[in-house]
Amino acid sequence: MMLRRVLTMSRPLAMQQRGTHFYGLTETHEMIRHTCRDFAEKELKPIAGKIDKEELFPKEQIKKLGELGMLSMMTPAKYGGAELDTLSYAIAMEEISRGCATTGVIMSVNNSLYIAGILKFGTEEQKKEWVTPFTKGDHIGCFALSEPGNGSDAGAASTTARVSGDKVVLNGTKAWITNAFEAEATVVFATFDKAKKHRGINAYLVPMPTNGLSRPKKEDKLGIRGSSTGPLIFEDVEIPAANRLGKDGEGFKIAMTILDGGRIGIAGQALGIAQAALDCAIEYTGKRECFNQPIHKLQGIQFKLADMEMKLQSARLLTYQACFLKDQGKKFTKEAAMAKCAASEAATFCAHQAIQILGGMGYVRDMPAERHYRDARITEIYEGTSEIQRVVIASNLLKEYGVV
Ligand SMILES: Cc1cc2nc3c(=O)[nH]c(=O)nc-3n(C[C@H](O)[C@H](O)[C@H](O)COP(=O)(O)OP(=O)(O)OC[C@H]3O[C@@H](n4cnc5c(N)ncnc54)[C@H](O)[C@@H]3O)c2cc1C
Repeated sequence: MMLRRVLTMSRPLAMQQRGTHFYGLTETHEMIRHTCRDFAEKELKPIAGKIDKEELFPKEQIKKLGELGMLSMMTPAKYGGAELDTLSYAIAMEEISRGCATTGVIMSVNNSLYIAGILKFGTEEQKKEWVTPFTKGDHIGCFALSEPGNGSDAGAASTTARVSGDKVVLNGTKAWITNAFEAEATVVFATFDKAKKHRGINAYLVPMPTNGLSRPKKEDKLGIRGSSTGPLIFEDVEIPAANRLGKDGEGFKIAMTILDGGRIGIAGQALGIAQAALDCAIEYTGKRECFNQPIHKLQGIQFKLADMEMKLQSARLLTYQACFLKDQGKKFTKEAAMAKCAASEAATFCAHQAIQILGGMGYVRDMPAERHYRDARITEIYEGTSEIQRVVIASNLLKEYGVV
């Protein structure tokens, strides 16, 4: 059943509900959580270790997620999407990533880095051509901003766009692109006038594969190993000038706007990894005995669990706050950065503590704790490192105080 069908039932739930329930969530949100959790338990959790070990792209599961509407969650129904709100998306990202963080990142790139930008800045024709075929899991997209020479400083893009009549010719190398090997299209950022600095960048829609575009190698990564990451090399790639997304010179603004929304998705992914680490730790504390008692009776272990839960719940609240603001059409740049930073740090903290709680068993592949530890690490790096999130938070904060 498409998730959109459950949207008609929207009633706030009571505050007293436990765990991941919060005041203000509707039955729709809880049904989405339930559907995604069920999918993750049955379809992802049992194979997440294999996906990681063998670096398998979860093709069948991505197709099923597409059929459920989870690859186009915030896309209007008229373009083939599930037409849900951002909070639904964050909840789904958490539950799917709780089962498999690899699947989570593939889903997040399609939803919030590829489709979202086209919906916001694309023309009607572009939305029909570049969004609709990417809503059901038959095709997925990617987002090519980073380069070998610049990640955090995205405005320093050295990939060039040369206008030649009604064509644009792209040259340069993009790096670290998620979904690079499976994607059938990318949003790519290129400089058409270096002198104009940030205002000299455009965003373009490029079909994949296409003449002159190569994807030479997959990176051998620490975590999220089933998702492909790699460079995209553009050598005289010719595309119609009509493939420009947004206005001339708007590319940098488009990239930053997309990343604001993308960070909510990564916050959701990080919450899922943190929750999976906590689940694994709690389960183990009931089974493992030390000094003739289950280790959950040891106060030292209980304190670790308490700290994990506090960090996880605080990050979840920040994430929901960013979603509420975005869904109300309010400014949410600072809140998305706080959510992403807090959730990714909660994920690395919880995954670290989970290994400690499991002792030797945490360090080997028989248990998922070591995978959560490796998967968690990337959430502090992509879509802006934790340092860059703090730069964003501080600059917005100082503006609010009127000191800059
Ligand atoms: C698995 C993976 C998937 C990725 N997927 C994508 C993708 O799909 N599309 C895409 O475009 N990119 C993607 N990236 C790239 C990712 O967004 C960048 O790696 C990230 O933005 C950091 O850039 P960098 O690696 O160049 O680090 P650098 O920018 O070189 O930073 C190095 C260090 O300096 C710090 N630093 C930099 N500037 C500042 C500052 N002003 N203040 C304080 N500290 C600072 C950083 O925090 C970091 O610690 C991916 C990366 C990985 C590893």
